[in-house]
Amino acid sequence: MAYYQPSEDSPSPPETVYIEGAGKPLKLPSLDFDGEVDVVVIGGGFVGCSAALHIAEAGQKVVVLEGNKIGWGSAGRNAGHVTAHATKLEPEAVIATYGKKYGERLNEVGAKAPEFVLNLSEEHGLDLSSVKGGIVSAAHSSAALERLRMRCQFWKDYGAPVDILDAAETADILGSDTYVGSYIDRRGIAINPLAFIRGLARAAIGKGAVLCEHTKVTSFSQDGNKWCVSAEGHTVSADHVLLCTNAYTDDIWPGLKRTIIPVRGYQIWSKPLPEEVRGQILRGVSAALETRRMPTGLRLHGDGRLQFSGGAGLGPELAPNFPERVAAIERIFPAVGKVEVEGWWSGWVTRGIADGWRLHRLAPGLLTAIGCNGRGVAMGPIMGRELAKLICGTAEDDLIIPISRPTEITGYVFYKPVAAITMQYMKWRDRIEVGV
Ligand SMILES: Cc1cc2nc3c(=O)[nH]c(=O)nc-3n(C[C@H](O)[C@H](O)[C@H](O)COP(=O)(O)OP(=O)(O)OC[C@H]3O[C@@H](n4cnc5c(N)ncnc54)[C@H](O)[C@@H]3O)c2cc1C
Repeated sequence: MAYYQPSEDSPSPPETVYIEGAGKPLKLPSLDFDGEVDVVVIGGGFVGCSAALHIAEAGQKVVVLEGNKIGWGSAGRNAGHVTAHATKLEPEAVIATYGKKYGERLNEVGAKAPEFVLNLSEEHGLDLSSVKGGIVSAAHSSAALERLRMRCQFWKDYGAPVDILDAAETADILGSDTYVGSYIDRRGIAINPLAFIRGLARAAIGKGAVLCEHTKVTSFSQDGNKWCVSAEGHTVSADHVLLCTNAYTDDIWPGLKRTIIPVRGYQIWSKPLPEEVRGQILRGVSAALETRRMPTGLRLHGDGRLQFSGGAGLGPELAPNFPERVAAIERIFPAVGKVEVEGWWSGWVTRGIADGWRLHRLAPGLLTAIGCNGRGVAMGPIMGRELAKLICGTAEDDLIIPISRPTEITGYVFYKPVAAITMQYMKWRDRIEVGV
């Protein structure tokens, strides 16, 4: 069964709310030389550009081959929330999933993820339009609030600036009495991710990495100890290849795409809200995310534009269901009145795996970091750094997660109907729990 592939999306970069604040796009040539380097990186997203930056900083020769524009993938079109969590799992579940050694390491790295982004941007002089104040997890039910209480206790014991807010406090901050309470994690930030990926790419170039756009790799092969990567009629050979294609992974390496389920996520943004309304919603916080199974994420930009989730899909890009999404926002924020949509875009995340990020050695000298589960703005660059560390001599044991074997999703050939039914079921459960 051949399903629609994320790589079939339009090669044009999407129109997003980030474009104005993201500075000039990079205009990089496609691969126009043959040669030999230490590392070829396939994919110019967060993982690929960060890997290139760290590899170049270590003095190795690295080339990044990106099929479209740098940041064309999820890196330039996500929601821009940077949470202090490495995965979507609760911190105890991270330890249960990865074991004590790696689970604790991953929680520690996740806890510092927003700080990592801010430090990296400061080091390289990037303007990410970061909004501090914290990310609110808004509980749609009392069971969800109980789970947030456990999360809060874990991070309080760790010493993190987190709190549970009751319904009244939540209503006061969010400007919505929809929620039974919430969890605020003041470490969380929101950024312009397109500015971040472009900045990472420029930083990598500044350190000597060569980045090529419009260079889609269709195959690569091993010749003795070297990998030969061909694209645009040229071949680059290298000791290492990093496959950094995440949700956009196609048939480039046998079986890899069958280890993830790509799900299309939509984002919508509104025309600027009236001045008098802006101060009433999402007050002093970076962003909010509901605890529903099909959650709505919310951000208020400095110019008064409200950004929110526009639903999910599994096939070609279609317009979101505007009446449904706008009605949901107007229900959450009655004070806003009529929400007028200005634009929308979509991109792909990986789902269908319990844990989140994984590092695989697919063959000697061929590595990948894949499976973000929607925690990639900070964790993507962190995973890229880990790949770079491994190549530059760090022992496997010292990485934040172990190198694991890729595991094909059971019943992969039926993933699309199963995922479609699962999403309908999740929406139905949400509706029952919330009553709308
Ligand atoms: C709508 C949406 C909202 C999200 N919201 C958040 C959020 O708020 N917070 C968060 O932390 N994460 C979020 N994410 C997830 C986050 O964006 C991703 O985890 C992250 O971008 C993954 O980075 P990456 O480098 O692994 O992959 P990508 O950024 O997707 O980059 C992969 C690149 O590989 C290239 N490529 C693929 N095949 C080839 C080939 N054969 N040859 C050359 N190049 C190739 C693609 O063109 C693409 O540019 C969201 C994602 C989406 C889509």
